[in-house]
Amino acid sequence: MTAQDIVIVGSGPAGLSAAIYASRAGLHTLVVERGAPGGKMRVTESICNYPGFPDCITGPELVRQMRRQVEKLGVSIDRFTVQSIVRDDDDYFILEGPEGRLKTRAVIIASGTGPRPLGVEGEKRLAGKGVSYCAVCDAENFRGKDVAVVGGGDSAVKEAIYLTGYARSVVVIHRRGELRATQALQEEAFANDRLSFVWHSVVEKVLGDQQVKGIAIKNVQTGAQRILPVQALVVYVGNQPLTQPVEGLVELDQNGFIITDENMCTNVPGLYAAGDVRRKMLRDIVTAVSDGALAALSAKNYITRLNTKVS
Ligand code: NAP
Repeated sequence: MTAQDIVIVGSGPAGLSAAIYASRAGLHTLVVERGAPGGKMRVTESICNYPGFPDCITGPELVRQMRRQVEKLGVSIDRFTVQSIVRDDDDYFILEGPEGRLKTRAVIIASGTGPRPLGVEGEKRLAGKGVSYCAVCDAENFRGKDVAVVGGGDSAVKEAIYLTGYARSVVVIHRRGELRATQALQEEAFANDRLSFVWHSVVEKVLGDQQVKGIAIKNVQTGAQRILPVQALVVYVGNQPLTQPVEGLVELDQNGFIITDENMCTNVPGLYAAGDVRRKMLRDIVTAVSDGALAALSAKNYITRLNTKVS
């Protein structure tokens, strides 16, 4: 098995940035990805807070540009689902997945986060049958329908606005009386007359057999329950870190995010984390690319130290 200097797990902005910095630092670099490259940027309609794009840029276009930059450096992005990461006796990391095994000196975990489910009755059963975790992916299926979006953060508000371009009606259901979303998004949402809000309310149940027929909601202040006859429910109640391959290996915080220092080092020498998967204050493209660069530099320093010790 040929050993890499560094394997980067995930090809969102953190992973792609790490690949650029690692390759330019002279490391033999491989990016592995279980799906299509780009992470959540791939399904982001427009990105307006990434410096350098005053007129916004679409997610897929930003992915295309970052990916081009990586591939121009000769780094390949391979389809590989990492299921476990262990250390062998020679201090190499071994990554295992259905596609085989990879051997590497250092690893950067840039696997990001996945949607957090609501955990209510009917949600799992009707996933893909009206219950969605990706408005951009499913918007076309919701054309002309009545759609409910749960959550009050940037994702819920941004995607609810997006859905107004497709759905007959869009209602945002939020458990509190004010949104968590940034001011700019709130203003855009409140100015959109195709969007309505149900405050202080939670979804208790998703109704329907083969397709979503409605949702049961409850006002948490009054206890009043009612049915909203929607045909789709889009869930944006935050994300959970995708850390399964490193559970038991690396230190996580109480919410399951990887703990790093400011240089993206974890408690395991040679193992770094970058982007949304790590504990941090702001999960965004701009902080992800910064994390990726720092993780690559830390990995480079680690490998240099190893090589100096060996010679
Ligand atoms: P988030 O900021 O964590 O918001 C999650 C929302 O879901 C909150 O409003 C929360 O309510 C609500 N919630 C959580 N659990 C719930 C439950 N069990 N039932 C009902 N509601 C529940 O997550 P996010 O919106 O996905 O954003 C994640 C990160 O990505 C954030 O840092 C965000 O700024 C960033 N982001 C940025 C953009 C952009 O355009 N700049 C777009 C998308 C995401 P409470 O408010 O009551 O806690």
